[in-house]
Amino acid sequence: MSNREISGVGFPAAPVRYRGGVKINYALCKGCGKCYDMCPADIFGFDPETKLVTVDYPEECWYCGACIFECPSKGTIQLDLPMTCL
Ligand code: SF4
Ligand code: SF4
Repeated sequence: MSNREISGVGFPAAPVRYRGGVKINYALCKGCGKCYDMCPADIFGFDPETKLVTVDYPEECWYCGACIFECPSKGTIQLDLPMTCL
């Protein structure tokens, strides 16, 4: 698949190397679920086996920072801004 595929709204998606990402450091995560509750883009999921929040749709992140603001364990969530936002 080309890295210039058309997104759902008719604009070309950014090439993969320019996309950002959302990561959770599970060594620090307290499993409180606040990021899941707060995310306006609904990118998080939940793993019933581990009882931990998962990052299911990182490509839909708005980079609003609400999850980092609400997370009680600072440094747990890492946002890598896409190069197009810099
Ligand atoms: S930065 Fe905003 S949109 Fe992205 S994962 Fe965090 S709360 Fe959701
Ligand atoms: S808000 Fe922070 S500590 Fe709570 S589940 Fe999300 S990443 Fe883990």
